[in-house]
Amino acid sequence: MSDKFDLIVIGAGPGGYVAAIRAAQLGLKTACVEKWIDGKGAPVLGGTCLNVGCIPSKALLESTHQFEKTQHANAHGIQTSDVTMDVKQMVARKDKIVKNLTGGIAGLFKANGVTLLQGAGKLHAGKKVEVIAADGSSSNYEADNVILASGSVPVEIPPAPLTDGLILDNAGALDIDETPQRLGVIGAGVIGLEMGSVWARLGSEVTILEAMDTFLAGADAEVAKEAAKLFKKQKLDIRLNARCTGTEVIDGKEVKVKFTDAEGDKEIVVDKLIVAVGRKPQTQGLLSDDSGVTMDERGFIFVDEQCRTGVPGVFAIGDSVRGPMLAHKASEEGIMVADLIAGHNVQVNYDAVPNIIYTHPELAWVGKTEEQLKTEGAKIKTGKFPFAASGRAMAANDTDGFVKVISCEETDRILGIHMVGGIASELIAQAVIAMEFCSSTEDLQLTMFAHPTVSEAVHEAALAVDGHAIHMANRKKR
Ligand code: FAD
Ligand code: NAD
Repeated sequence: MSDKFDLIVIGAGPGGYVAAIRAAQLGLKTACVEKWIDGKGAPVLGGTCLNVGCIPSKALLESTHQFEKTQHANAHGIQTSDVTMDVKQMVARKDKIVKNLTGGIAGLFKANGVTLLQGAGKLHAGKKVEVIAADGSSSNYEADNVILASGSVPVEIPPAPLTDGLILDNAGALDIDETPQRLGVIGAGVIGLEMGSVWARLGSEVTILEAMDTFLAGADAEVAKEAAKLFKKQKLDIRLNARCTGTEVIDGKEVKVKFTDAEGDKEIVVDKLIVAVGRKPQTQGLLSDDSGVTMDERGFIFVDEQCRTGVPGVFAIGDSVRGPMLAHKASEEGIMVADLIAGHNVQVNYDAVPNIIYTHPELAWVGKTEEQLKTEGAKIKTGKFPFAASGRAMAANDTDGFVKVISCEETDRILGIHMVGGIASELIAQAVIAMEFCSSTEDLQLTMFAHPTVSEAVHEAALAVDGHAIHMANRKKR
């Protein structure tokens, strides 16, 4: 094997492995370096997303959603009794899905001719890449181009140091194999809400401590308000303005969590505690002092709009650079950079990145929130349509939530679509396509949606922007 490549990608998460496959498809001689190995020393591909992120969390969310639906099946006339969950089997099913998918990437690398280099990659000056194996031995390679795709790791906080089996980060949280009677979560962000939902559905008493005094500050306020109301009904006890000040493991069995909120010092005792306070870029050991690549004050690799670092031919993508820490954002950046290297001029549309929280109902949005637009002084018009008025949602017995469309009053262009609803994660793709094509509200209004579908709520919300929703009283004064 020659030691010179057109492209070396460091990291085989959804940013790196997708970039490597795309580059190989475009005819570039490509290698991908990955340091993650399993207990037997075999490479683990797919990064956070496939191993300890998107996929395993969604497997658990799906299993527990099915469990909950079965418990409520009598609304359809289906008689059930004593519905139980085998938690160990649920976790084993999750592990099997992860194994299938991560193994599939090795197959895709082989099929596309991507060379896998096992070990920790380190970038040196002159686009030289050193690969350090688990036994400490190192090999050296050169490339015309390098993509840094080293991802992120969970943030740890001093008051809640991780303790095997009791105080867990997101990876440990995915391996809980017995329903905790009392679950504590620090951080009411995406992981906190998704993992909290998994265990609340199985009967855990879930308390989530959130330092901010606003719930889901990044979401549209109406969506966040509706979600807070629904989560309360689901018995997720979300305490805002609650800052963890310390933890104490009692008899190796339970955890005392101390915190302060508006009323003063408090404490709760839980059987497991998940720390989900955000993630930070993983760049330790990635760059030699002479690499020339720079980072910002929070450790994110500095890149321009097309993911170029300051060093010609060196790019960085995904969770280790600015922007939302999302798998699809990482993958699209990987594709963009592979295309750029192959000589095509492409760019990612950062105004149309979908965000989803996979609770039930799900929260999903794309574009700006009403609050952001008002702060910017934009003149906007909005339309909302509740799933309670959707025939298909009624048939599915899944009527919580709504779709909200925000458009520019002057140009009619859609500026944001926000929703909370049963299958919002699927509906949001329509909104992303609309925004990617710079649709006006009228474009969406004049588009034919199949009946009866939950998607009709997107159509009706667009009609509601001008007071024309058919299945709702919403006439606007002219
Ligand atoms: P990563 O997936 O972190 O991959 C980086 C890879 O690089 C890793 O395999 C790492 O071992 C390797 N690496 C690092 N340094 C080196 C080195 N020096 N040499 C060799 N290899 C190296 N996002 C969504 O869009 N949807 C979701 O539903 C979702 N759910 C999530 C649930 C959880 C619990 C978590 C934790 C995250 C979730 N995310 C989700 C976020 C998503 O997982 C990340 O945004 C995504 O994985 C980032 O991709 P990446 O390729 O940049 O980095
Ligand atoms: P997050 O940023 O979504 O939420 C962290 C929350 O913790 C915030 O609300 C923050 O205010 C709070 N917090 C921070 N410090 C705290 C403290 N000391 N005490 C109490 N609360 C505190 O982060 P996350 O939930 O850890 O997820 C990490 C990343 O993974 C996110 O950026 C997200 O994009 C990604 N992710 C995405 C999905 C998805 O797309 N569905 C799912 C899971 C994770």
